[in-house]
Amino acid sequence: MGYIELEVLEDQPKRVVIGIDLGTTNSLPAIWKDGRPEILEVEGEPALIPSVVHVSDDGTAVVGRTARARSMDDPAHTVHSIKRFMGRSLGELDEAVLRRLPYQVTQTERGLVQVEVGGKRFTPQEISALILREVAAQASVAMGGAEILSAVITVPAYFDDAQRQATRDAARLAGLEVLRIVNEPTAASLAYGLDQKEEGTVAVYDLGGGTFDVSILSIEGGVFEVLSTNGDTSLGGDDLDALLVDLLRSELEGSVEGSVFDDPAFRQAARLSAEKAKVALSRDPEADLVISLPELGVNARRTVTREEFERLAAPLVERSIRCCERALKDAELEPKDVDEVVLVGGSTRVPLVRAEVERFFGRAPHTELNPDQVVALGAAAQAEVLMGGSRDILLMDVTPLSLGLETMGGAAEKLIQRNNRIPCSVKEGFTTYADNQSAIDFHVLQGERELAADCRSLGRFKLTGIPPMPAGLPRVGVKFHLDADGILTVSAKEESTGASASIEVKPSHGLTEDEVSDMLEASFKNARKDFEERRRVDLIAEIGIMLRHATANLTVAEERLDRESVEDLHEAIAAAKEARLCTELELVQAARDTLDRATMPLAAVLMDSVVKEAVSGKKLGDL
Ligand code: AMP
Repeated sequence: MGYIELEVLEDQPKRVVIGIDLGTTNSLPAIWKDGRPEILEVEGEPALIPSVVHVSDDGTAVVGRTARARSMDDPAHTVHSIKRFMGRSLGELDEAVLRRLPYQVTQTERGLVQVEVGGKRFTPQEISALILREVAAQASVAMGGAEILSAVITVPAYFDDAQRQATRDAARLAGLEVLRIVNEPTAASLAYGLDQKEEGTVAVYDLGGGTFDVSILSIEGGVFEVLSTNGDTSLGGDDLDALLVDLLRSELEGSVEGSVFDDPAFRQAARLSAEKAKVALSRDPEADLVISLPELGVNARRTVTREEFERLAAPLVERSIRCCERALKDAELEPKDVDEVVLVGGSTRVPLVRAEVERFFGRAPHTELNPDQVVALGAAAQAEVLMGGSRDILLMDVTPLSLGLETMGGAAEKLIQRNNRIPCSVKEGFTTYADNQSAIDFHVLQGERELAADCRSLGRFKLTGIPPMPAGLPRVGVKFHLDADGILTVSAKEESTGASASIEVKPSHGLTEDEVSDMLEASFKNARKDFEERRRVDLIAEIGIMLRHATANLTVAEERLDRESVEDLHEAIAAAKEARLCTELELVQAARDTLDRATMPLAAVLMDSVVKEAVSGKKLGDL
């Protein structure tokens, strides 16, 4: 949560923290300087790093422009668009995409994707780490050699936990501490300072080279929440280029052999010519499509007016608007409910795109900032906030550790999982353990471990006034609400009487980012041991309930069961009582299983009498 960093960094020297837009095609660093975010530049040019890695057969990896230059002559060793594979297993990837790749994609023992290039295997995290290392290196050059150790990194709003975690891991591998993973649309809104609004709704329309994303965000008290996302993974500037390539082809039709169109040199030249004309048409009323490849006998020039281009492009732009409609529908909003529209991605410079977006939302979108840079700028703005800088609002996206309650036997039950977006609320039902229990003690915990004793204790409270009832009958609703400021309110309410109690805590109080990492690391390290211990504790709790039930019905057992069954039951009860103190999981499990088997005849007898009672006095037809 936002103030974790604020609290611990207050009296430390200022560190250099950069914002990084880790993109599918390009990555870009930015920094906060003189009261505003700024793109880092090397030799007067933005430090834009193509997100491309080339690995030669001797294992040497190069990143960025040099790597991209190799993609034409050595595609089998060049990795593009690794972001699409982050945190994914092989089964989750589109087979058609995999088939088109010039290198092999396999999976690790844990089912994670890995790419095979230059005779070596790399996970997407490792490839991304190489890119991030290069971004940090370029940023360092831009800042005259400053050491960059921390960053705020952006990810698409639809990234799930695994994809976000993979991004964090990539940064760690690159030697960068991740201060925060921020959603790209949130970053874009921050760049425009929309967090300063008291409340409102923002639509972020992101049309890049190959993909389209739209996100609907709400802002309340400086905190963004993603209400919905929609998009099209195969809609972008490349499709607009393809329309103009088709024009060029029809211009050449008849004057060249059909096979020319499949020649890689033709395709490349036609694509470049199309993109150049498209970019020109964003500025001028007409542009020329020019192609000249004497070796293929190709020579053509075709003038395209903006009007003609817009007629061709209209169905594609319309497709993006349909996505906006769906996103709004999912957020249960209408276009008129949107207060601000933010444009991201190079293709939003197309005048038709801007016009259609404006028409749909009924308001002019923000276009003041460069749409290719707005995400990186927002990441830098977020970094400034986290460093306790001039923007004194707190921005929180997710909770860094799980929050939950201690349950019977000392197990930790997580109600809000770590990385859950905040603000959020979760409700769960609890009940009593003993007959006529009039109060329940609640112990609120934080952490990833399975046992309460290994988690951080946040506080305790007691719900009293539960009317006398048999164990398991009272219905107690427990609600966890984590608000935008990171305040956790836990409330419990007994439903029949309305008796209630609650507690308010600040989960991140006094917790540093390092402590959060240590807690996470401990949970990974102890995962197996914790799992077994949790199982043992749960079994002991279960044995407790079974024992109570069995002893309460011993008289029935003695009256109605055969001698052997009664003896078995006594033995199993004695063994189960002892097993409750046992530390060996297998022995506890065996005792529970034996008790379960030994109580079966008793359970059958009890069930039988319940059924008889229910049936007595009723005619068959009533049943
Ligand atoms: P991005 O992935 O956000 O960098 O967007 C790249 C896409 O934006 C490419 O398809 C570019 O051709 C396109 N693009 C960049 N500048 C312009 C422009 N001025 N007009 C139209 N499209 C542009």
